[in-house]
Amino acid sequence: MGLIDNHGRQINYMRIAVTDRCNLRCFYCMPEEGIKYVDKSNLMTYEELLRITKVFCAEGIEKIRITGGEPFLRKDLMQFLQSISEIPQLKKIHITTNGTLLEGKVNRLKELGINSINLSIDSLDKDRFKMITRRDDLDKVIHCMDEILDEGLELKLNMVVMDGKNIEDIIPMVELARDKKLSVRFIEEMPFNGTLGQGNKSFWSHKKILSHIESKFPALEKLVDPPFSTSSNYKINGFAGDFGIIAAYSRTFCGTCNRIRLTPTGVIKTCLYDNGIFNVRDIIRAGATDEELKTALLSALGNRSKDGFEAEKKRASSPVSESMATIGG
Ligand code: SAM
Ligand code: SF4
Repeated sequence: MGLIDNHGRQINYMRIAVTDRCNLRCFYCMPEEGIKYVDKSNLMTYEELLRITKVFCAEGIEKIRITGGEPFLRKDLMQFLQSISEIPQLKKIHITTNGTLLEGKVNRLKELGINSINLSIDSLDKDRFKMITRRDDLDKVIHCMDEILDEGLELKLNMVVMDGKNIEDIIPMVELARDKKLSVRFIEEMPFNGTLGQGNKSFWSHKKILSHIESKFPALEKLVDPPFSTSSNYKINGFAGDFGIIAAYSRTFCGTCNRIRLTPTGVIKTCLYDNGIFNVRDIIRAGATDEELKTALLSALGNRSKDGFEAEKKRASSPVSESMATIGG
């Protein structure tokens, strides 16, 4: 039967942020300086993560995405991936990464059955990439992209679209899909940037992104979106790959949301925009049984917000401002 929330939605996907630390400083995600990383003793240990993953998979979670911060900054991530790859109910393990630390690791990921990677790349221009991420690492990301394609893994490229920063990159990113079998995903910027009060002044909505692409490629073919998809997907005749647009701020896809999130410190979020529903690390460390962990999850799912707007409203006293690195995207 699986996990069903109070709005009748099946929940079968959990995103796990294994660290809040990162080697880049993407300005839409975190400030350049003054970041207070959580103390390592407050991070979920791998043992705790494995236990909670097993308990939740026994209830109906079938897909896990490993994210962060930069997941490959966390020591021994490969061993953790191996452990969860042995969970019988788990059908898919995917990863979101900035790709700077993956050199030589893609083949091992493939051996572990990890067959899909989301790679963040906000510009194909060295200077713009450096301005956005505050690091000069574009070459490493491109190398990672090639390695993933050479190994034959599914590849999605994530690009956050920002006025005055990378609009020039939209069409070249679409062009990447001409010869390469990959999917480019354009993401609306959200206010999860670790700084209170900074809004996106000239917001690029999903509609604006689409009409920008249509002005160059008028004959777009709308694809049938897979179940639970957050992206609205399109193909251009003759292209090997395709592209999608994620209305992350406009929140057009909440009605079919199938996911929960686990933050590096053990907070379960049933919506990206909520304040956190309960802390599994705390209840594990207080001696909870597996049955108690399951009960906590079921109770959270029985009281889930209808959509991201309702979840945001409920947290009105503390507006969205935390860094996405503390949530995992
Ligand atoms: N470090 C990895 C990476 O960058 O892919 C994984 C973590 S990152 C927080 C996950 C995703 O969230 C990335 O694709 C990133 O572009 C996206 N993201 C971060 N901050 C965002 C924001 N304010 N608005 C929209 N997307 C954001
Ligand atoms: Fe790091 Fe990813 Fe955030 Fe960029 S988006 S700062 S790579 S966690």
